[in-house]
Amino acid sequence: MAGRPLLNRRLEGLGTTIFAEMSALATETGAINLGQGFPDTDGPESVREAAVRALREGRGNQYPPGPGVPELREAIADHQRRFYGIGLDPDTEVLVTAGATEAIAATMLALLEPSDEVIAFEPYYDSYAACVAMAGAKRVPLTLRAPSFRPDLDELRAKITPRTRLLLLNTPHNPTGTVLTPEELSALAALAIEHDLLVVTDEVYEHLVFEGAHHPIAALPGMRERTVSISSAGKTFSFTGWKVGWATASPSLIAAVRTAKQYLTFVSAGPLQYAIAEALRLPDTYFDGFREDLRRKRDLLADGLRTAGFEVYTPQGTYFVTTDITPFGEKDAYAFCRALPARCGVVAVPNSVFYDDRQAGSTQVRFTFCKRKGVLEEAVTRLTRLAG
Ligand code: PMP
Ligand code: GLN
Repeated sequence: MAGRPLLNRRLEGLGTTIFAEMSALATETGAINLGQGFPDTDGPESVREAAVRALREGRGNQYPPGPGVPELREAIADHQRRFYGIGLDPDTEVLVTAGATEAIAATMLALLEPSDEVIAFEPYYDSYAACVAMAGAKRVPLTLRAPSFRPDLDELRAKITPRTRLLLLNTPHNPTGTVLTPEELSALAALAIEHDLLVVTDEVYEHLVFEGAHHPIAALPGMRERTVSISSAGKTFSFTGWKVGWATASPSLIAAVRTAKQYLTFVSAGPLQYAIAEALRLPDTYFDGFREDLRRKRDLLADGLRTAGFEVYTPQGTYFVTTDITPFGEKDAYAFCRALPARCGVVAVPNSVFYDDRQAGSTQVRFTFCKRKGVLEEAVTRLTRLAG
């Protein structure tokens, strides 16, 4: 086996995901894990029970239909109508996937040719870079800069070339918490239409918007036929381990994405799909309560981090808060995060790894607040020791 590296060149440098690396560090050290974004409390009991019922009744224990069970596809279509007024045909315009992660992978593999360019905001969620690489395409980052993390649309326009195939959006945005405004979305839509670009929009934090509201770009005029919208039950219902996600788009886009998806997992999570169909029909009180709970936790952690000495960029959405460690005299977010468990018993994630422009995010560190109040309070107490 000498001579040639085992890992193909496309995947070179992707290594272990930072979330896995930091979670392993938390396990190793026993530190409070505010790194990887997963809740420390499971979602609604009724949804868990629905999964148990499906398992016991033998629904979904064998391969479910390729596009997802009809109950879930209908519930996804109804959810899009209920919250955004978007009408979808559950048979041709909805595809159930193994989390948003598979939806992103299948979409990139289906829609991209090797010479294509994909414009994505950086800091970007790590699977975007990996999936664009696996498709053999090229990522072109548009840097969101502190403190506002707004996209500069003139800069974006300047990055569009004849090879640009796709805009990859994420709103609410992980890790910065930026929520795109209706004006920004209209401008992005106009650019996509003018340059005949596809748009892929990752909206997994759609129900975690604290300032303003979530607006899907797919609802804008002229966008339906060029947009793939992606979401997931993991965040909204606090079942990140279930990996039930979906893509919605026009029939021709869904057919393309389904072609790739068939050969990735084919299908997944049969009984859980029935449970998520019920979850999507929970009353507004669930969605409102979930958001308000996380809003309180955002405020608790953001205030605590500020008191501890961090520069804090309060997020408009998601369950992450990005900070800057410059006030501690620190210059390297990755080294800071590696040392943090030993220094004070907390794990966080360095945003620097989500940038191609390493300088832009070199001192940024992300903390998640999807944890119990007492855990967040204890983390803040520990982090307060840093300044001393
Ligand atoms: N997109 C973003 C922006 C995320 O933060 C995550 C992490 N959950 C995902 C996609 C992946 O979602 P899933 O767990 O449903 O695959
Ligand atoms: N989305 C989660 C986060 O941003 C991590 C998911 C994963 O570990 N791949 O923290």
